[in-house]
Amino acid sequence: MVLPLMQKLQDRIVAANTLLAAYAVPIEGTLGRKHPEEPDETRFPFQRDRDRIIHSLAFRRLKGKTQVFVAGEGDHYRTRLTHSMEVAQISRDIARTMGLNEDLAESIALAHDLGHPPFGHAGEEALDAWMHEHGSHFEHNEQSLRIVTTLETHSSLHTGLNLSFEILEGLMKHRTPHDSPALDHPRKPSLEAQVVNIADEIAYTGHDCDDGLRAGLFDKSALMNTPLAREAYACIVPRGTSFRGALIHLMVSDLYTETERRLALKNIRTLQDIYERAEDCVAFSESMAKKLVELRTFLWNNMYLHPEVRKHSSQGQAIVTELCQRLYAQPNDKVVTLMKVHSCSAEEAVKDYVAGMTDVFATANARDL
Ligand code: MG
Repeated sequence: MVLPLMQKLQDRIVAANTLLAAYAVPIEGTLGRKHPEEPDETRFPFQRDRDRIIHSLAFRRLKGKTQVFVAGEGDHYRTRLTHSMEVAQISRDIARTMGLNEDLAESIALAHDLGHPPFGHAGEEALDAWMHEHGSHFEHNEQSLRIVTTLETHSSLHTGLNLSFEILEGLMKHRTPHDSPALDHPRKPSLEAQVVNIADEIAYTGHDCDDGLRAGLFDKSALMNTPLAREAYACIVPRGTSFRGALIHLMVSDLYTETERRLALKNIRTLQDIYERAEDCVAFSESMAKKLVELRTFLWNNMYLHPEVRKHSSQGQAIVTELCQRLYAQPNDKVVTLMKVHSCSAEEAVKDYVAGMTDVFATANARDL
């Protein structure tokens, strides 16, 4: 018997698809999941994916992970959690404006940084260096994928969250999920995945300027030496609104114009066109890309390489390295359980455990060791 709600869901899927561009990933997706599931009674498939991501343990731990500063140092600086929410918000807005699948973009965005270890990029470098000593490597995008396919649990019947393959593709960036029977060769990323990549850049450029100013690492007059910051400040004069908002507005507006131009230039008409040849369709214009490089260089020199930030980064790296070495020499219960449950090597279990830690948990554990 078909439930009335099921009929409504099907009707809603049909209606929602009429709002999408021909090159968007359809509301119901096309690839399904590794373990087939009955349709939900009320939610679209990518909405279920989003809910699984938000309810995962790894997602909640993002609140305790550094973006640039050591988390907890100031209540108003971004964490990985607020960063992921900003990326999701920007991705959804861009997706909706361009007639793309908003739920897919949102899900990829919310999951894109799940694999980040404690202490931001400093922690990632330390984990990667330690893994190299064991003939392997660490990369946060791969770890995000490992979290949703292996480490998190949605059902006792299988490992992972059993997300739709389109989301796994979006997290993999340019490669094919290895266990997708639907995909035997790599294909270009969907426009939704491309939107998230660039929304990530838009979000961190905006909030790093904001956090850097708040922390007093640089001031407005220094920032005004870059053309994009000058433009953004000029924008806010008549409105009295925030510098971050103006910066995001400038980047997003440029993105719409350039993406439209590229879609027309490449004669993109269908989703198949996207998968075959639409790499880098979602992009900034050449002049915006150049201005962004200048602003990123400014942030690099004045923020990421600032002595205060570097001090925290090297402390974080030392903690990560120490934790890896000690837990490898003397695995605790958590590491032993990870090895058993996921039939993995000691170094992989140590990597999974340490990568999952928040800054505070890692710091406390390094002290306890
Ligand atoms: Mg990010």
